[in-house]
Amino acid sequence: MGQLAQPLNFMGTFYREVRQAIIDIETMFSILAQSPEILDTPGAIPLVVREGRIVFDNVSFHYEPNRPILKGVSFEAEPGQTVAIVGPSGAGKSTISRLMYRFYEPQGGRITIDGQNILDVTQESLRAAIGMVPQDTVLFNDSIGYNIRYGRWDASDEEVREAARLAQIDRFIESVPEAYEAQVGERGLKLSGGEKQRVAIARTILKGPPILILDEATSALDSFTEHDIQEALRRVAKGRTTLVIAHRLSTIVDADEILFLDHGRIVERGTHKELLALGGHYAGMWNRQREAAEARAKLLEAEREE
Ligand code: ATP
Repeated sequence: MGQLAQPLNFMGTFYREVRQAIIDIETMFSILAQSPEILDTPGAIPLVVREGRIVFDNVSFHYEPNRPILKGVSFEAEPGQTVAIVGPSGAGKSTISRLMYRFYEPQGGRITIDGQNILDVTQESLRAAIGMVPQDTVLFNDSIGYNIRYGRWDASDEEVREAARLAQIDRFIESVPEAYEAQVGERGLKLSGGEKQRVAIARTILKGPPILILDEATSALDSFTEHDIQEALRRVAKGRTTLVIAHRLSTIVDADEILFLDHGRIVERGTHKELLALGGHYAGMWNRQREAAEARAKLLEAEREE
């Protein structure tokens, strides 16, 4: 038996490595599909994250010439701070996260992490330093446990469960018969948008990156899910420099700084309190969202009474 264990062990490792390679190829293709032109610059060196200070210095960007998307965007996220980017649809908010992850390169200005221009570092080291929780999380056709462990392959079962707990998805997982072994995808469990996002949060918790980018889902979630996700995000953002692309202002009232982006320019910046006092774009958007939320609540109440 002992003689068999060795080759079986080897086969296990081999299988995991092959599977990892396949996933890496998938990741690579999804990245290539978005940015075929982005290559490491000759002599690129690994990024060294000391504190996690992010600086956008006069960044300009367009996808197509003659259609500027970002026009001289400058801001700083201090180590451990949460900076929220808000503004109307199409203002360029998600573009900022795409530049940060280097799916695209700015045509003007520079983006640095702890003083290192992200164009001068290897993409592998950049992406290893950043945890991205996107709007729409794509899950692999595999078990839930696998989908969480994707954040860090050598994580123990205990660490996977702890990440699920912090992401507030543990109770959902434990409520299905196969728990962490339950298959997700076409032939398995169908997860809601909110559940998928919490799997992505658990994955990011496991990865433990010093920098986080959270792209809030545009679609409204029910208020319980919304609350759970906010709580999970708050936990994962603790002690990490975090950029939040937010659509619902109620989710970012505690941000250290809020940037209001309009037509590719930061037109207002400050804390929630400061921006409300300013009575400008942010305050207008806040009031509109609050009125809409109140109207929704009244409608729900009326429906319940019927
Ligand atoms: P939303 O709140 O709706 O998510 P946003 O502020 O995040 O919007 P971006 O996704 O950054 O906006 O897009 C900014 C602009 O760039 C939009 O007008 C969009 O149509 C355009 N855009 C986005 N991606 C591309 C692309 N790959 N090629 C060309 N134009 C693009």
